[in-house]
Amino acid sequence: MPISLRSARRYLVQRMRHIIQNLGRLKVVLLITALSVSFSVFITFLAFSLRQTGAVYNIAFFLATFIPLTIAPIVSWPLISLLMKVDSLEKEMRLLASLDPLTELLNRRAFFRDAELYIHRAKQEGRMLSVIALDLDKFKAINDCYGHSAGDAVLRHFSTTIRANCRTSDLMGRLGGEEFALLLPNTSASAAYALAERLHQALRLTAIQYGHSTMRYTVSIGVISVVPQKTDNIEALLNKADRSLYLAKETGRNCTVVFDS
Ligand code: GH3
Ligand code: MG
Ligand code: MG
Repeated sequence: MPISLRSARRYLVQRMRHIIQNLGRLKVVLLITALSVSFSVFITFLAFSLRQTGAVYNIAFFLATFIPLTIAPIVSWPLISLLMKVDSLEKEMRLLASLDPLTELLNRRAFFRDAELYIHRAKQEGRMLSVIALDLDKFKAINDCYGHSAGDAVLRHFSTTIRANCRTSDLMGRLGGEEFALLLPNTSASAAYALAERLHQALRLTAIQYGHSTMRYTVSIGVISVVPQKTDNIEALLNKADRSLYLAKETGRNCTVVFDS
């Protein structure tokens, strides 16, 4: 019972936020004012309905209209402003909590959470999707050779390269260290492979200037493309993509292997 009460309250709060967002501050304040005046006049009408009319009656109706008409906007305007500010701050906080601070891609938790939603939708629609696992090659050597902050610059550069080559509908995440993952909705194996090749090509053309040094780096990639079945989830698909990635490392790195079941 307390759970359903809590969820009902959460639902109501969400509906209220939705209404405030859709109508905007001015319309919400006007609506609150109109409701306050109507309620106040209605109560006054009830209170006087059994009594005779006269000067008191007219004054009461004037006050029942005038007081809420002036007080409701004065009180509700700053309150609605505050609510809207809290709402947008909360959205910002949620977004920040989903992002990896270094690369601004999704962090591991957010990637897994969103990927499950994408997979669920692909199952319902019977559509194909691709999951790609990416791991920078010999990244430890970059840190050892140029320093940790140079390594960070490489990670940032790689995330920018990913963003430049993906669609906005693709999920892009940094799972940790120098390991990344992508989920491409409605994407066949050949299209996913083409994206992986574009990434290799972009890195071939890359030379990152860091102080007096010029850094180059490569990436190994594993791809799996499926129409997800009942038992598929992001963990299972990433495991398969990782197996392909492992083969890519074994084959000499800087290449892509597509999962073959
Ligand atoms: P492989 O080609 O087999 O993947 O070799 P690798 O050197 O890339 O792999 P390894 O797992 O040996 O090294 C990963 C390195 O990534 C070790 C760790 O210090 C570094 N690393 C992890 N997180 C960060 C980070 O946030 N910034 C930087 N600069 N380095 C990081
Ligand atoms: Mg690794
Ligand atoms: Mg690596």
